[in-house]
This record gives sequence, C-alpha cells and structure tokens, in this order.
Amino acid sequence: MIKTNLEEIVSMTKAEVFQGDNVNICGVSIDTRNIKEGNLFIPLHGNNSDGHQFIENAIKNGASAALWQKEEPNPPKDFPLIFVDDTLKALQTLAASYRHQMNGTFIGITGSNGKTTTKDILGNILSVDYKVGKTKGNFNNEIGVPLTLLDLNKDVDFAVVELGLSHKGDISFLTSIVKPDIGLITNIGHAHINNFESIEKIAAAKVELVEGLRVDGVLFYNGDQEVLENHINKNTVNTVTFGRGANNDYDLKNIKSTRNGNQFMTSGSNFLFHISLLGEHQVMNALSAIAIAQYIGMGEEEIQKGLEITIPSDKRNDVRKIGKITIINDTYKSNPESVKAALHSLYNINENGKKLFVMGDMVDMGNEEISIHQRVADDLLPEHLDAVFGMGDLTEYTIQKARERFNEKKAVFFEDEDKLVCRILDYAKEDCIILFKASRALQFDRLVERVEKEI
Ligand code: ATP
Ligand code: MG
Repeated sequence: MIKTNLEEIVSMTKAEVFQGDNVNICGVSIDTRNIKEGNLFIPLHGNNSDGHQFIENAIKNGASAALWQKEEPNPPKDFPLIFVDDTLKALQTLAASYRHQMNGTFIGITGSNGKTTTKDILGNILSVDYKVGKTKGNFNNEIGVPLTLLDLNKDVDFAVVELGLSHKGDISFLTSIVKPDIGLITNIGHAHINNFESIEKIAAAKVELVEGLRVDGVLFYNGDQEVLENHINKNTVNTVTFGRGANNDYDLKNIKSTRNGNQFMTSGSNFLFHISLLGEHQVMNALSAIAIAQYIGMGEEEIQKGLEITIPSDKRNDVRKIGKITIINDTYKSNPESVKAALHSLYNINENGKKLFVMGDMVDMGNEEISIHQRVADDLLPEHLDAVFGMGDLTEYTIQKARERFNEKKAVFFEDEDKLVCRILDYAKEDCIILFKASRALQFDRLVERVEKEI
C-alpha cells in the first residue's frame, strides 16, 4: 500500500493548504470502521452520510492525517489535515499520481460479464511467478479503482485491476487513472443496458479502455463478438483476440465440462488445462487469462498451477453438494448472457438426477425488460430441464412463455417465498441439481441459505 508522508500527499493531491506536522502515512481509508494505524482518512460525501462527521472516530482509531473538503465546517484544530476542493477528486488524483510512480505492468479488465472471475484467474496465474496486486473483491468504480491502486505495494510486478461500467464515460475516466499496459475486454452483453440505448453503445463504452492504454500497450478482446470488433480500430492499437471461432488468435479444442470443472486445450498446443469452475463460459474467462499470461512469456505448466488454485468467487456458480442434492448458487448477478451461460453449465452436467432452475428477475434491463425476460424461455429446454420455478414481477413473463413448452406443473410462478421453498424442498427429496439465478437485488442468496438449511 502507499507509504509516504503528509508533504508528499500534499504535492500528489495538488493541494495548497495543510496543517500539522509532516507525519508518516501508511495506506488510505474512507471508512473509519476499517481504519488502520497510520492511515490517511479520506472523508467522502455519501448518499446517506458524510465522512467528515466521523473525523473524531478516525483520529481515535489511529489515522495519522486526513483530507478535508474546504467548505466543510469545524475541521479539528490539532490534527494533521490537508484541505482540498473535493475529497473524491483528491482521492482519484492521489491514486493516479501513485500509479505514475509504479513500474510494474498494469492490466485493466472490463466487460459485461466475468471481470472479477477473470481478474482472479489471471491474478492467480501471474502470482505463480511474480509479485502481483489485484482488485479486492469487486472494487471497480470511481472510488474502488483509486482505493485498489493505493492499496498496491509499490514494487508489484503486475497489477490486475477491474474496471466497472455503469454509464458512458466511466471506462474513459478509470483507464485515465490506471493507464494499463494491457487491456482486456471479456465480452459485451446486456448488463446495465438501462443506461444505454443499445448493445452497440455498450460496446463503444467498453472500448473507451483503449484511450488510457500506454503507447505500446495491447488490447485483448473477445473476437467472437462482431459488435465489439466494429468499435476497435486495429490501426491505432495492438490487438490479440480470443474466442470460440477459429479466426481468433487464441481458440479452444477438446473442451470437456463436468460438475467438477472443465478440461480444455488451446489451439496450437496439446497441453491439457484444467479449471475447477463450473460452466464453459469459465473456459472463455480462463482462455483470456491464458492468452495474457502467454503473451507475458509464462509457460503452460506455470499457467496450470495458477488455474489449479482458482476457486469460485462468492455466489458465482458456486456448487455445493448436500446429501444427494447439488445446489448451484449463481445469485450474484443476472442478465440474459449470464443466464444462458449458467443454464448451459447445468445442461452439460452429465449425471443422474432431475434438473431444476429457480429463476428471479434480471434488473436494469431498460425499456425492453419484458421481452428480454420472455426471451430467456428460448433457453429453457425440456429435454435438459425437468422444471423451472420463478419468482419476481418480470420473471412471471419468462414462466408464461416457458409454459409453451413445459406443462403448468413444470413451469411454475410463485408470489410467495414460503410456497416456493416448500416446492423446492419437495423436489429435493430425490437426487437433483438445482440452479438458483437472479440479480443481487432479488436476494436469492437468502433463498439458497433457507433451502440449504431446510433440506
Ligand atoms: P460485475 O459487473 O458485478 O462486477 P463481473 O463482470 O465482475 O460482474 P463476475 O463477478 O466474474 O462478473 O461474474 C458474474 C456472473 O457472470 C456470474 O454469475 C457468472 O456466472 C457470469 N459469467 C462470468 N463469466 C461469464 C462469461 N464469460 N459469459 C457469461 N457469463 C459469465
Ligand atoms: Mg466484478
């Protein structure tokens, strides 16, 4: 993490006014509950509260200094403070300046699905041979990315940083701070379509990543998606593609998917990779990480060591076996592409037992949310799926449509969670595999917990 002193921070944030001694600073924090001894406290204006109100807690919990937005009243008098126009902007400026001092290779990852997973896979691979820092959890926005940078040790060989997109311009801003040497766009899909008019506009917003790439940088992207291809000017940026199509620089062969993960080979090699994440979409995430690792010069055996230590991130295709029941908890996030990916993971499990899909709404789907939910039914295939249960206003449209292929006992809509749980438990009396998927806001993770407890 950043280790410096107050005067240095004054210069890095381009502040002009400060008070107190030139104390040492070790790391930053925006939350007084997590302050560590020596931290610089950066109070931010949140939706519900203002960090400046908690300055006394910051001091009590060991902060050595703080930033202070000039307009805020009652700054503490006998504590080292740096006065700035805007604490959020100062956090971002500080992070950009710290990044500038680092010599490691920076990898910026964006895309509609799979950023966190790919970041973790790539981080694990690189850490086999190098000192690596990476985004903690999902800290991928205008606050999380600066905090990620300031948390990195200055001497890392590689930093793997996740960049999230909610609105046009987000990636442009984040890439200007991160200045990646290597960029990666995992894929383009409907996530956050409510803030954009079309998939084309989402693709254009993701390609903003290129604006911050270093001059000799290189962009890795999913070459199967024409919508992405259309926005990338190959005359101005070095590119490497990965995907299923044989036209890509990296593609796949001999994929074998089971409940325990995937085996696969990359084109042009007979090395058998293995990753214990469920679903073929994870092979694509792994492929992009392998492509970058090979570009950096890592060998296949080292890469496999990194794949080996990769486990599912929380609530993302997390498989748990309870007695004869297998539960797949994919309740972290949902959109049409990730539902499709999750369903195909389920279909590919070649084992005894009925398969049940428990679906909740996909949020932020914009004006076309109803038809988007109806179209999910195209992927509900009676030859692979015994039943589909739904809950949520929009999921009702999916279930209605599913009834064209499933009878009404097999495609059921529930308004009441207790009734849904009862029916699931009925199912769980014999061998079965149950996939739970919904957007986080639907809190299907709680539903999974309930079912797991009551089985
Ligand atoms: P967020 O935008 O919330 O940060 P993310 O892009 O980091 O999400 P992950 O957290 O890695 O994505 O995965 C979220 C969900 O997307 C999971 O449910 C997973 O099953 C699905 N997913 C992951 N990779 C892919 C992929 N390549 N294609 C389709 N779906 C995917
Ligand atoms: Mg993420």
